[in-house]
Amino acid sequence: MDLRELYQEVILDHGKNPRNHRFPEPHNREGRGYNPLCGDKIALRLQLDGDVIQDIGFLGQGCAISQASCSTMTEALKGKTLAEAEELFAKFHAMVTSDGAPADDFDELGKLAVFAGVREFPMRVKCATLGWHTLQAALHDESSVAKTE
Ligand code: ZN
Repeated sequence: MDLRELYQEVILDHGKNPRNHRFPEPHNREGRGYNPLCGDKIALRLQLDGDVIQDIGFLGQGCAISQASCSTMTEALKGKTLAEAEELFAKFHAMVTSDGAPADDFDELGKLAVFAGVREFPMRVKCATLGWHTLQAALHDESSVAKTE
């Protein structure tokens, strides 16, 4: 199995069986996101304790890439500090949008690196980043709705 197939398998797995597909209780942050190009729609809720993400979950509907991205994002963020979350977001965003950056730059992204391939499909970049934009909305303005436009 080559890397591309492995990546596809992880995306399909998380797309079909998203992790943290629930709202954590209690929660003190919430964001909603919508990607009109694809119809992906999600709601994300977090429980912040100080600056640590104690718990995080999402509900919503969308394509396999948007669901898998939210799923792997919530897995990656649980227990992280806000600063670490911002750093991951910056790296993830660079990975799915920049051209030609070497793949080994993404080592520390772990499972999130499965989305490296979406940069070849501009329509799909918005699916892969929806969860992360929604995270930003949840952290910076509880009531805002993240748009991928
Ligand atoms: Zn989508």
